[in-house]
Amino acid sequence: MRTIHIIGGGLAGSEAAWQAAERGVPVTVHEMRPVRATAVHKTDHLAELVCSNSFRGDKLDNAVGLLKEEMRRLGSVVMRAADAARVPAGAALAVDRDRFSRGVTEAIGSHPRITLVREEVPRVPDAADGPVIIATGPLTSDSLSADIAAMVGSDHLYFYDAISPIVLAETINMSKVFRASRWGRSLRGISGEACGVDDGEGDYLNCPLTKDEYERFYGALMTAERAPLHEFDQAKFFEGCLPIEVMASRGVDTLRFGPMKPVGLIDPRSGREPYAAVQLRQDNLAGDHFSLVGFQTQMKWGEQARVLPMIPGLEQAEFVRFGMVHRNTYINGPTVLRETWQTRTRDDLFFAGQISGVEGYVESAASGLIAGRNAAALVRGEPLTTPPRTTAIGALAYYVSHAAPRNYQPTNITFGIIAPLEASAGRKVPRKKAERNIALSERALADLNVWMRGTQFANSPIHEFTN
Ligand SMILES: Cc1cc2nc3c(=O)[nH]c(=O)nc-3n(C[C@H](O)[C@H](O)[C@H](O)COP(=O)(O)OP(=O)(O)OC[C@H]3O[C@@H](n4cnc5c(N)ncnc54)[C@H](O)[C@@H]3O)c2cc1C
Repeated sequence: MRTIHIIGGGLAGSEAAWQAAERGVPVTVHEMRPVRATAVHKTDHLAELVCSNSFRGDKLDNAVGLLKEEMRRLGSVVMRAADAARVPAGAALAVDRDRFSRGVTEAIGSHPRITLVREEVPRVPDAADGPVIIATGPLTSDSLSADIAAMVGSDHLYFYDAISPIVLAETINMSKVFRASRWGRSLRGISGEACGVDDGEGDYLNCPLTKDEYERFYGALMTAERAPLHEFDQAKFFEGCLPIEVMASRGVDTLRFGPMKPVGLIDPRSGREPYAAVQLRQDNLAGDHFSLVGFQTQMKWGEQARVLPMIPGLEQAEFVRFGMVHRNTYINGPTVLRETWQTRTRDDLFFAGQISGVEGYVESAASGLIAGRNAAALVRGEPLTTPPRTTAIGALAYYVSHAAPRNYQPTNITFGIIAPLEASAGRKVPRKKAERNIALSERALADLNVWMRGTQFANSPIHEFTN
């Protein structure tokens, strides 16, 4: 039987490997770390989470909650490892990052049909002894990036993202912060942006700011020096993950309507909402690291050390990691890909993960799930399929392969890209958004079940996962 070669052992590559191997097909994963580092990864683990430890909302009134549930039903190794490494985060699924990536590494490393090779693949392999899945992520190595650029031409683009700082819990002044959730509970979990504002059930520490404190902080932020964007000519940020100083430059109150939003956060000491608030979210199982939610930044590290302690409660905070700007590499999905995650020009070549034009941990793993299964189907001579557009995973595949190619932007999963509900005899489309979202999720899971019964997914996994 031919072997599937997967380049990159991140979220997408690991999921693809697991799915293909579970279909009985041999897989070789080529992962360049630790032989060759990236600018952001810190370990040699597979599926390392490079920034936030949140997989975002985990309820069915939320599109990423639906996507995760679909993946669980499809036997996702990433979801099993994530569920096993869960830390408190209200209505969201957040994980202990080390435990999570160790779980995936062990599962892949011990699978009898998966071989892990630690090497950089510098070029897109020619048609070889089996299908190839390129899952090299936003920090694809330079030589492979150049070769992909040559292959897809001008559709191969770069742009920036930025990550949030993390503080050591014991250095937070607990007498100044308060534990609370927005509105006392999460109404919608975490939706939308990977790095956006979170709501949880009392699992967040909130740093309240008075008007004076906010204005001083704002002033310092506006004058802080930013790291140079030397490598690239143009700074293009993912709108859902904007650096705070970029948001701040849009107006003095923009942050108070974004990551410093105080709405629904009652400070128990005053009984009132503060003027502004910064939320801190637990970042590891031990609870000794907290990240500043939505505080991705491109300020120079020295400037972060000067400006961030102006946030009440963080005056003496020790920063385990400062925020930073990073590269994101992705192809123009609609030009290059089919709904099966195969390229339009080569049946045996797939892209998956961030480089394929999706955004986020869960979306990357989801694309790997379908690419891995379809690569396995190709080897086995079975039809290649994708779940219907009424499902989150199918909608993502459709978006990546069918969105308007001009100004293409990677997307998180949202209900907006899932096929809308249609009224049918005896069943109206709910008018309220929350009810409509639940109805979309119920339809998605029902349609996924039907699809699974009619495809290769009908077979249950054949290798036990342990974590
Ligand atoms: C700094 C930063 C912050 C981010 N923050 C978030 C966040 O908070 N939340 C979120 O959901 N998403 C975030 N993202 C996006 C995140 O990268 C993706 O969600 C996810 O990691 C993508 O998974 P992936 O498998 O596509 O890529 P990765 O997880 O990056 O995996 C790709 C793998 O390919 C390997 N590789 C690269 N080139 C080669 C080669 N030539 N040969 C062999 N191996 C190679 C890399 O070493 C890596 O292990 C962030 C990205 C970056 C860079």
